[in-house]
Amino acid sequence: MALGEPLPGLGELLESIGAGGTRLATIDAAEGAAGNVSVCLGWPIEVRRRFPNAEPIELPVPAPHLAGHTVIVTGSGRRLRDLAANPVANLGVVVIAADGVEATLWTSPSRLFERLTSEWNSHLAVHDDTVARTGTNFHAVVHAQPPHLTYLSHVPAYRDEAYFNSRVMRWEPETIVQLPAGIGVLPFMLPGSMTLGEANVESLRGHRITVWSKHGVMARSDVSVTRAVDRIEYAEAGARYEYMDLVAGGRGEGITVEETRSIVEAFGVETTLV
Ligand SMILES: [Zn+2]
Repeated sequence: MALGEPLPGLGELLESIGAGGTRLATIDAAEGAAGNVSVCLGWPIEVRRRFPNAEPIELPVPAPHLAGHTVIVTGSGRRLRDLAANPVANLGVVVIAADGVEATLWTSPSRLFERLTSEWNSHLAVHDDTVARTGTNFHAVVHAQPPHLTYLSHVPAYRDEAYFNSRVMRWEPETIVQLPAGIGVLPFMLPGSMTLGEANVESLRGHRITVWSKHGVMARSDVSVTRAVDRIEYAEAGARYEYMDLVAGGRGEGITVEETRSIVEAFGVETTLV
């Protein structure tokens, strides 16, 4: 999928990033400076009025399919809850050169960070892989730390992807509709590492949201930041029910496989989960 005309302008994009940050803070998925957001644009956009300072940077991983693309991304140590009120102080704009390795970072004089997010390599790798595979002109990536999804990944049985999905997807009818490919589950990996970056790309090829065990999630959307955040909310709602059920001694029935099949049929959902 790709965004059609009229393409969103810089103001609209910053607003959407801010709304996503606020929502993640509201659901307790972005404590302190946890979480980060980026959007990758396949069309040229004028950013110099709000981000006038330019400096050359080298990308942490090569992004050959993003030559000429623009990526708006959160700065390291910045709070997602502050993005709406002051986007330019908390975000940088990276314009990637033709070689897919060099880039220019545009920032505001009110910039409040030194480096870009510590998960910058993961964001970049997922953008590059998705643009290469789908040719989309827009891609949003969000990392957050929703407590119920993360808690479940601390329970060894839930680190099995099939088991995790069978338990978390069973509480609300819309979960299978909104997350037809289910939720990816990765083992614990060092935050910011290349190992996590590579496994994350692989998992987000098949899913729109992936759990980083004992850490958080990454979600993506080719429509908007808020759509990626919606995916986190749907998955977190399922995990919250599952947690409640664990605490209540497993008394809930959950939506049965037959009931899920009836939803899949009625709504024409393409899924391999049931
Ligand atoms: Zn994190």
